[in-house]
Amino acid sequence: MIPYGRQTIDEADIQAATEVLKSTHLTQGPKVPEFERAVTSFTDSEYAVACSSATAALHLACLALNVQAGDIVWTSAMTFLASANCARYCGATVDFVDIEETTGNLSVSCLQEKLAAAEKTGQLPKLVIPVHYTGNSCDMEQIKHLADKYGFFVVEDASHALGGAYQGKQVGSCQYSDMAVFSFHPVKMITTGEGGLITTNNPDLFAKLGLLRSHGVTKQPASFVKPNPEPWEYEQQHLGYNYRLTDLQAALGISQLQHLQAWVKQRRDIYYAYKAELADLPIEFLDQTKEAESSLHIAVIKVPASKRRELYDYLHANGIGCQVHYVPVYQQPYYQKLLGAGFSLPHTEKFYEQILTLPLFPALSKADQGQVIKTVREFF
Ligand SMILES: *Cc1c(COP(=O)(O)O)cnc(C)c1O
Repeated sequence: MIPYGRQTIDEADIQAATEVLKSTHLTQGPKVPEFERAVTSFTDSEYAVACSSATAALHLACLALNVQAGDIVWTSAMTFLASANCARYCGATVDFVDIEETTGNLSVSCLQEKLAAAEKTGQLPKLVIPVHYTGNSCDMEQIKHLADKYGFFVVEDASHALGGAYQGKQVGSCQYSDMAVFSFHPVKMITTGEGGLITTNNPDLFAKLGLLRSHGVTKQPASFVKPNPEPWEYEQQHLGYNYRLTDLQAALGISQLQHLQAWVKQRRDIYYAYKAELADLPIEFLDQTKEAESSLHIAVIKVPASKRRELYDYLHANGIGCQVHYVPVYQQPYYQKLLGAGFSLPHTEKFYEQILTLPLFPALSKADQGQVIKTVREFF
């Protein structure tokens, strides 16, 4: 089966992880801060906090903004569950903004309308989490404009988008957001096995994220509440978690990051080959946001809704592991219980019925891609 996505691991990656195994620190050593510096330098952001997953990172981002029961958080439903669950972990209410059918990203005009309505009923969100679907940045300048007007925080779910750019800057620069979150799950742009990371330019958020990642504990006597502590003491000042990344994983991340730009280029070549070779079929490709360059995490095509299931079955029967990203989050039983079974967003529904993800990853061979193209053509 040709998967829709998979990691690339080379000898240098294995070497990097092996060196940590032979060293004194498997965790809380020098590799995590080194990885964080490498990502801040790549994304041109001030601070980075590596975490055990993007899910943990999103949870920490919500906690750092003091999201709690009584607060409202909005995100897009065309995403992985974690973009919404993070707010639920904090007891907040989740609501979903409809998408643009051309990109699958949160629609700025739907956001604007929803904000105007929410202002009238006193239901404005504390936080909006735009998701850069497939690695194509949302229109962040417009979203930031609305954030300033209505007074909400912005956390980018950039799990797909490491290596993508917006207005000439890397996604994660946080030019128009409070924080951005990346995932290093094996299907994502680079991998640490499991892993995630938050970038921010805000020193207060950075300090809070660091504490919450590790039990809410500080080891700096200067910031202790208690005067004259014993030399062995540390202090828990908040209810934190163990959401740390290990040095083993960080070493892999540092090595993987060095491949990223070449991989984005390979993904682009594969993606444009699909576009060229399937151009005459009843298939649509997604648009890119103005001034954005996608990292092309996944190759999403749109086919007539009446054909989508048949095409999915045909490709699977022929050894091609296509997938659908995503069932709208509000269709999950957990969210139906919260929002009511009738909750529905028209653009999200229409988009969902047409989408299919074709295999796209740097190590996809020309022969395998040729097989995918041939099989899709045979179907039509
Ligand atoms: C993968 C993904 C996540 C969760 O990432 P993990 O590292 O697996 O926790 C969150 N949001 C989106 C959009 C994702 O694709």
